[in-house]
Amino acid sequence: MYDDIEKFLQSHDNDLMPIRYTYSDIKKITNGFKDKLGEGGFGSVFKGKLRSGRFAAVKLLEKSKANGQDFINEVATIGRIHHVNVVQLIGYTVEGSNRALIYEFMPNGSLEKYIFSRQGNVPLSNEKMYEIALGVARGIEYLHQGCEMQILHFDIKPHNILLNDKFVPKISDFGLAKLYPTNNNTVPLTAARGTIGYMAPELNFKNIGGVSYKADVYSYGMLLMEMIGRRKNLNAFANHFSQIYFPSWVYDQVSEGKDIEVQEDAMEHEKKTTKKMIIVASWCIQLKPVDRPSMHKVVEMLESDVESLRMPPKPLLTPYQMPGDDDKANHAKLSNPPNDCIDSSY
Ligand code: ADP
Repeated sequence: MYDDIEKFLQSHDNDLMPIRYTYSDIKKITNGFKDKLGEGGFGSVFKGKLRSGRFAAVKLLEKSKANGQDFINEVATIGRIHHVNVVQLIGYTVEGSNRALIYEFMPNGSLEKYIFSRQGNVPLSNEKMYEIALGVARGIEYLHQGCEMQILHFDIKPHNILLNDKFVPKISDFGLAKLYPTNNNTVPLTAARGTIGYMAPELNFKNIGGVSYKADVYSYGMLLMEMIGRRKNLNAFANHFSQIYFPSWVYDQVSEGKDIEVQEDAMEHEKKTTKKMIIVASWCIQLKPVDRPSMHKVVEMLESDVESLRMPPKPLLTPYQMPGDDDKANHAKLSNPPNDCIDSSY
Protein backbone atom coordinates (compact mmCIF):
# COMPACT_ATOMS: atom_id res chain seq x y z
CA MET A 1 0.00 0.00 0.00
CA TYR A 2 2.77 2.44 0.94
CA ASP A 3 4.55 1.66 -2.32
CA ASP A 4 1.41 2.55 -4.22
CA ILE A 5 1.10 5.82 -2.38
CA GLU A 6 4.74 6.60 -3.09
CA LYS A 7 4.25 5.80 -6.76
CA PHE A 8 1.19 7.97 -6.90
CA LEU A 9 3.05 10.85 -5.27
CA GLN A 10 6.06 10.46 -7.54
CA SER A 11 3.96 10.23 -10.70
CA HIS A 12 2.08 13.33 -9.63
CA ASP A 13 5.34 15.11 -9.10
CA ASN A 14 3.62 18.46 -9.26
CA ASP A 15 5.68 20.45 -6.79
CA LEU A 16 2.76 20.54 -4.40
CA MET A 17 3.72 17.72 -2.09
CA PRO A 18 7.10 17.20 -0.50
CA ILE A 19 8.65 14.00 -1.86
CA ARG A 20 9.90 11.22 0.35
CA TYR A 21 13.48 10.25 -0.46
CA THR A 22 15.45 7.23 0.72
CA TYR A 23 18.67 7.67 2.62
CA SER A 24 20.62 6.36 -0.36
CA ASP A 25 18.84 8.94 -2.56
CA ILE A 26 20.07 11.80 -0.41
CA LYS A 27 23.56 10.32 -0.31
CA LYS A 28 23.55 10.52 -4.09
CA ILE A 29 21.97 13.96 -4.15
CA THR A 30 24.67 15.33 -1.83
CA ASN A 31 27.49 13.38 -3.48
CA GLY A 32 28.21 11.59 -0.22
CA PHE A 33 27.62 14.67 1.97
CA LYS A 34 30.59 16.38 0.42
CA ASP A 35 29.71 20.06 0.39
CA LYS A 36 28.71 21.29 3.84
CA LEU A 37 26.85 24.59 3.86
CA GLY A 38 26.48 25.09 7.55
CA GLU A 39 25.62 23.75 10.92
CA GLY A 40 22.22 24.24 12.47
CA GLY A 41 20.77 23.60 15.89
CA PHE A 42 19.66 20.12 14.90
CA GLY A 43 22.21 18.99 12.35
CA SER A 44 24.30 19.83 9.32
CA VAL A 45 23.18 21.29 6.01
CA PHE A 46 24.72 20.02 2.74
CA LYS A 47 24.49 21.24 -0.81
CA GLY A 48 22.94 18.79 -3.24
CA LYS A 49 21.84 18.45 -6.82
CA LEU A 50 18.54 16.84 -7.70
CA ARG A 51 18.05 14.62 -10.74
CA SER A 52 16.29 17.52 -12.44
CA GLY A 53 19.52 19.50 -12.18
CA ARG A 54 18.07 21.80 -9.55
CA PHE A 55 20.22 22.56 -6.51
CA ALA A 56 18.97 21.74 -3.03
CA ALA A 57 19.98 22.12 0.59
CA VAL A 58 19.79 18.88 2.54
CA LYS A 59 19.44 19.26 6.29
CA LEU A 60 20.59 16.04 7.88
CA LEU A 61 19.24 15.84 11.40
CA GLU A 62 21.57 14.49 14.03
CA LYS A 63 20.33 11.22 15.42
CA SER A 64 20.94 12.02 19.05
CA LYS A 65 19.59 15.54 18.91
CA ALA A 66 16.85 14.96 16.36
CA ASN A 67 13.61 16.03 17.90
CA GLY A 68 10.75 14.04 16.43
CA GLN A 69 8.23 16.76 17.10
CA ASP A 70 10.32 19.47 15.42
CA PHE A 71 10.73 17.23 12.40
CA ILE A 72 7.05 16.51 12.06
CA ASN A 73 6.25 20.20 12.55
CA GLU A 74 8.59 21.20 9.82
CA VAL A 75 7.33 18.66 7.26
CA ALA A 76 3.69 19.16 8.15
CA THR A 77 3.93 22.92 8.28
CA ILE A 78 6.00 23.96 5.35
CA GLY A 79 5.17 20.96 3.19
CA ARG A 80 1.83 22.59 2.52
CA ILE A 81 2.98 26.17 2.19
CA HIS A 82 3.68 27.72 -1.16
CA HIS A 83 4.65 31.35 -1.10
CA VAL A 84 7.50 33.27 -2.74
CA ASN A 85 8.68 34.46 0.66
CA VAL A 86 8.68 31.10 2.39
CA VAL A 87 11.43 28.56 1.69
CA GLN A 88 10.09 25.60 -0.27
CA LEU A 89 10.38 22.14 1.22
CA ILE A 90 11.05 19.79 -1.68
CA GLY A 91 11.25 16.56 0.21
CA TYR A 92 12.17 14.62 3.31
CA THR A 93 13.71 11.36 4.45
CA VAL A 94 12.59 9.14 7.29
CA GLU A 95 14.42 5.86 7.35
CA GLY A 96 15.01 4.26 10.71
CA SER A 97 16.68 6.95 12.78
CA ASN A 98 17.87 8.83 9.69
CA ARG A 99 15.95 11.99 9.05
CA ALA A 100 16.54 14.71 6.55
CA LEU A 101 14.77 17.70 5.05
CA ILE A 102 15.39 18.80 1.47
CA TYR A 103 14.83 22.45 0.63
CA GLU A 104 15.21 24.64 -2.40
CA PHE A 105 18.76 25.98 -2.42
CA MET A 106 19.35 29.59 -1.37
CA PRO A 107 22.66 30.67 -2.92
CA ASN A 108 22.95 33.90 -0.94
CA GLY A 109 22.67 32.30 2.49
CA SER A 110 21.04 34.00 5.45
CA LEU A 111 20.27 37.67 5.97
CA GLU A 112 22.35 37.66 9.14
CA LYS A 113 25.62 37.93 7.29
CA TYR A 114 24.47 40.99 5.35
CA ILE A 115 23.33 42.81 8.47
CA PHE A 116 26.09 42.10 10.95
CA SER A 117 29.19 41.57 8.89
CA ARG A 118 29.84 43.02 5.53
CA GLN A 119 33.18 41.28 5.20
CA GLY A 120 33.34 39.57 1.85
CA ASN A 121 29.72 40.40 1.11
CA VAL A 122 28.46 43.03 -1.24
CA PRO A 123 26.69 45.48 1.09
CA LEU A 124 23.01 45.61 0.37
CA SER A 125 21.60 49.02 -0.52
CA ASN A 126 18.88 50.64 1.56
CA GLU A 127 16.47 50.01 -1.27
CA LYS A 128 17.31 46.29 -1.29
CA MET A 129 16.94 46.14 2.51
CA TYR A 130 13.51 47.72 2.14
CA GLU A 131 12.50 45.16 -0.50
CA ILE A 132 13.72 42.34 1.72
CA ALA A 133 11.82 43.78 4.70
CA LEU A 134 8.66 43.98 2.59
CA GLY A 135 9.11 40.40 1.34
CA VAL A 136 9.57 39.06 4.87
CA ALA A 137 6.47 40.98 6.00
CA ARG A 138 4.45 39.46 3.14
CA GLY A 139 5.73 35.99 4.02
CA ILE A 140 4.66 36.36 7.67
CA GLU A 141 1.33 37.90 6.63
CA TYR A 142 0.72 34.82 4.50
CA LEU A 143 1.57 32.49 7.39
CA HIS A 144 -0.79 34.40 9.68
CA GLN A 145 -3.69 35.00 7.35
CA GLY A 146 -3.21 33.30 4.00
CA CYS A 147 -3.43 29.63 4.94
CA GLU A 148 -6.19 27.36 6.15
CA MET A 149 -4.57 27.26 9.55
CA GLN A 150 -2.81 30.16 11.18
CA ILE A 151 0.91 29.44 11.32
CA LEU A 152 2.87 31.13 14.08
CA HIS A 153 6.60 30.95 13.45
CA PHE A 154 7.91 32.01 16.90
CA ASP A 155 11.51 32.34 15.73
CA ILE A 156 11.67 35.20 13.24
CA LYS A 157 15.26 36.51 13.17
CA PRO A 158 17.90 37.38 10.53
CA HIS A 159 19.44 33.90 10.75
CA ASN A 160 16.14 32.35 9.62
CA ILE A 161 15.70 34.56 6.58
CA LEU A 162 17.38 33.02 3.53
CA LEU A 163 18.10 34.83 0.27
CA ASN A 164 17.84 33.39 -3.23
CA ASP A 165 19.98 34.38 -6.21
CA LYS A 166 17.99 37.61 -6.65
CA PHE A 167 18.01 38.34 -2.91
CA VAL A 168 14.33 37.49 -2.59
CA PRO A 169 13.90 36.67 1.11
CA LYS A 170 12.47 33.33 2.20
CA ILE A 171 11.39 32.53 5.74
CA SER A 172 12.90 29.27 6.95
CA ASP A 173 13.28 27.05 10.02
CA PHE A 174 9.81 26.05 11.12
CA GLY A 175 11.05 23.89 13.99
CA LEU A 176 9.26 26.07 16.53
CA ALA A 177 6.24 26.86 14.39
CA LYS A 178 2.77 25.98 15.53
CA LEU A 179 -0.52 25.63 13.69
CA TYR A 180 -3.73 27.05 15.07
CA PRO A 181 -7.31 27.31 13.87
CA THR A 182 -7.65 30.77 12.38
CA ASN A 183 -10.27 31.85 14.91
CA ASN A 184 -7.90 31.28 17.81
CA ASN A 185 -7.08 34.53 19.50
CA THR A 186 -4.42 33.49 21.93
CA VAL A 187 -2.39 30.33 22.34
CA PRO A 188 -1.01 28.56 25.43
CA LEU A 189 2.14 30.19 26.75
CA THR A 190 3.91 26.84 26.86
CA ALA A 191 3.53 26.58 23.09
CA ALA A 192 5.94 29.38 22.44
CA ARG A 193 9.67 29.72 22.61
CA GLY A 194 12.12 31.79 20.64
CA THR A 195 15.43 33.59 20.63
CA ILE A 196 16.46 36.27 23.12
CA GLY A 197 16.52 39.66 21.48
CA TYR A 198 13.58 38.82 19.21
CA MET A 199 11.23 37.19 21.70
CA ALA A 200 8.03 39.09 22.44
CA PRO A 201 7.76 40.37 26.04
CA GLU A 202 4.41 38.62 26.65
CA LEU A 203 6.37 35.36 26.61
CA ASN A 204 8.07 36.54 29.80
CA PHE A 205 5.57 38.94 31.36
CA LYS A 206 2.11 37.54 31.89
CA ASN A 207 0.40 40.83 32.70
CA ILE A 208 0.70 42.55 29.32
CA GLY A 209 -1.46 40.27 27.18
CA GLY A 210 -1.81 36.75 25.80
CA VAL A 211 0.50 35.04 23.33
CA SER A 212 -0.75 35.30 19.75
CA TYR A 213 0.37 36.13 16.20
CA LYS A 214 1.48 39.46 17.68
CA ALA A 215 4.57 37.64 19.05
CA ASP A 216 5.77 37.22 15.44
CA VAL A 217 4.98 40.88 14.79
CA TYR A 218 7.30 41.82 17.67
CA SER A 219 10.13 39.61 16.36
CA TYR A 220 9.64 41.10 12.92
CA GLY A 221 9.96 44.59 14.43
CA MET A 222 13.25 43.67 16.09
CA LEU A 223 14.49 42.19 12.81
CA LEU A 224 13.46 45.38 11.01
CA MET A 225 15.34 47.51 13.54
CA GLU A 226 18.48 45.45 12.93
CA MET A 227 18.07 45.83 9.19
CA ILE A 228 17.83 49.59 9.61
CA GLY A 229 20.78 49.86 11.98
CA ARG A 230 22.81 47.08 10.38
CA ARG A 231 23.78 46.15 13.88
CA LYS A 232 22.54 44.15 16.86
CA ASN A 233 19.79 46.06 18.65
CA LEU A 234 21.60 45.74 21.94
CA ASN A 235 25.27 46.63 21.77
CA ALA A 236 27.12 47.50 24.94
CA PHE A 237 30.07 48.74 22.88
CA ALA A 238 28.15 51.31 20.86
CA ASN A 239 29.94 54.58 20.12
CA HIS A 240 27.67 56.57 22.38
CA PHE A 241 26.02 55.53 25.61
CA SER A 242 22.67 56.62 24.18
CA GLN A 243 23.10 54.21 21.28
CA ILE A 244 23.44 51.05 23.36
CA TYR A 245 19.83 50.12 22.70
CA PHE A 246 19.30 51.02 19.06
CA PRO A 247 15.45 51.00 18.97
CA SER A 248 15.18 53.67 21.71
CA TRP A 249 17.93 55.79 20.22
CA VAL A 250 16.56 55.67 16.69
CA TYR A 251 13.02 56.40 17.92
CA ASP A 252 14.29 59.54 19.65
CA GLN A 253 16.19 60.63 16.55
CA VAL A 254 13.06 60.37 14.42
CA SER A 255 10.91 62.05 17.08
CA GLU A 256 13.34 64.96 17.10
CA GLY A 257 13.10 65.19 13.33
CA LYS A 258 16.68 64.09 12.69
CA ASP A 259 17.78 62.07 9.67
CA ILE A 260 19.23 58.64 10.24
CA GLU A 261 22.43 58.33 8.25
CA VAL A 262 22.69 54.62 7.68
CA GLN A 263 24.30 55.01 4.33
CA GLU A 264 26.56 57.86 3.28
CA ASP A 265 25.13 60.20 0.63
CA ALA A 266 21.67 58.73 1.03
CA MET A 267 19.21 60.20 -1.43
CA GLU A 268 16.09 61.95 -0.21
CA HIS A 269 13.82 59.01 -1.08
CA GLU A 270 16.18 56.62 0.73
CA LYS A 271 15.98 58.73 3.87
CA LYS A 272 12.20 58.56 3.63
CA THR A 273 12.30 54.79 3.25
CA THR A 274 14.53 54.49 6.30
CA LYS A 275 12.22 56.70 8.33
CA LYS A 276 9.24 54.61 7.22
CA MET A 277 10.98 51.42 8.32
CA ILE A 278 11.77 52.98 11.71
CA ILE A 279 8.16 54.03 12.28
CA VAL A 280 6.86 50.59 11.28
CA ALA A 281 9.44 48.80 13.45
CA SER A 282 8.54 51.05 16.41
CA TRP A 283 4.89 50.04 16.03
CA CYS A 284 5.81 46.35 15.86
CA ILE A 285 7.86 46.38 19.07
CA GLN A 286 5.22 48.03 21.23
CA LEU A 287 5.27 46.38 24.63
CA LYS A 288 1.62 45.34 24.68
CA PRO A 289 0.50 42.95 21.93
CA VAL A 290 -2.75 44.92 21.41
CA ASP A 291 -0.78 48.03 20.50
CA ARG A 292 1.08 46.24 17.68
CA PRO A 293 -0.34 46.17 14.15
CA SER A 294 -1.17 42.97 12.25
CA MET A 295 1.25 41.92 9.52
CA HIS A 296 -1.38 42.95 7.00
CA LYS A 297 -1.21 46.46 8.42
CA VAL A 298 2.58 46.29 8.45
CA VAL A 299 2.64 45.54 4.71
CA GLU A 300 0.20 48.38 4.12
CA MET A 301 2.34 50.81 6.12
CA LEU A 302 5.55 49.76 4.36
CA GLU A 303 3.85 50.39 1.03
CA SER A 304 2.41 53.79 1.92
CA ASP A 305 4.03 57.23 1.97
CA VAL A 306 6.01 58.08 5.06
CA GLU A 307 4.01 61.30 5.43
CA SER A 308 0.88 59.28 6.01
CA LEU A 309 2.30 57.34 8.94
CA ARG A 310 1.87 58.26 12.56
CA MET A 311 4.66 57.91 15.04
CA PRO A 312 3.74 55.38 17.74
CA PRO A 313 4.37 55.91 21.47
CA LYS A 314 7.95 55.20 22.42
CA PRO A 315 8.33 51.42 22.73
CA LEU A 316 9.01 50.36 26.31
CA LEU A 317 11.35 47.49 27.04
CA THR A 318 9.56 46.02 30.05
CA PRO A 319 6.28 46.64 31.88
CA TYR A 320 8.33 48.12 34.74
CA GLN A 321 9.76 50.92 32.67
CA MET A 322 7.54 53.96 32.94
CA PRO A 323 7.00 56.05 29.86
CA GLY A 324 9.33 59.00 30.01
CA ASP A 325 11.85 57.19 32.21
CA ASP A 326 14.69 57.68 29.82
CA ASP A 327 13.42 60.05 27.24
CA LYS A 328 12.48 63.63 26.85
CA ALA A 329 11.01 63.24 23.40
CA ASN A 330 8.01 61.12 24.07
CA HIS A 331 5.42 63.33 22.50
CA ALA A 332 3.11 60.57 21.40
CA LYS A 333 -0.01 59.62 23.27
CA LEU A 334 0.20 56.18 24.80
CA SER A 335 -3.32 55.29 23.89
CA ASN A 336 -2.97 55.33 20.11
CA PRO A 337 -4.62 52.13 18.94
CA PRO A 338 -2.78 50.27 16.15
CA ASN A 339 -5.52 51.01 13.64
CA ASP A 340 -4.49 54.58 13.98
CA CYS A 341 -0.98 54.08 12.67
CA ILE A 342 -1.92 55.32 9.25
CA ASP A 343 -3.25 58.84 9.31
CA SER A 344 -6.22 58.76 6.99
CA SER A 345 -6.30 62.54 6.67
CA TYR A 346 -3.35 62.41 4.26
P1 ADP B 1 19.57 26.69 12.48
O1 ADP B 1 19.04 25.34 12.87
O2 ADP B 1 20.73 27.14 13.31
O3 ADP B 1 18.51 27.74 12.36
P2 ADP B 1 19.74 25.77 9.79
O4 ADP B 1 19.85 24.33 10.14
O5 ADP B 1 18.45 26.26 9.24
O6 ADP B 1 20.19 26.62 11.02
O7 ADP B 1 20.87 26.14 8.73
C1 ADP B 1 22.26 26.11 9.00
C2 ADP B 1 22.99 26.83 7.90
O8 ADP B 1 22.83 26.13 6.66
C3 ADP B 1 22.43 28.22 7.64
O9 ADP B 1 23.13 29.19 8.34
C4 ADP B 1 22.63 28.41 6.14
O10 ADP B 1 23.89 29.00 5.88
C5 ADP B 1 22.61 27.02 5.59
N1 ADP B 1 21.32 26.74 4.94
C6 ADP B 1 20.17 26.32 5.53
N2 ADP B 1 19.18 26.16 4.66
C7 ADP B 1 19.68 26.52 3.45
C8 ADP B 1 19.12 26.61 2.11
N3 ADP B 1 17.85 26.28 1.85
N4 ADP B 1 19.96 27.02 1.12
C9 ADP B 1 21.24 27.35 1.38
N5 ADP B 1 21.81 27.31 2.60
C10 ADP B 1 21.05 26.90 3.63
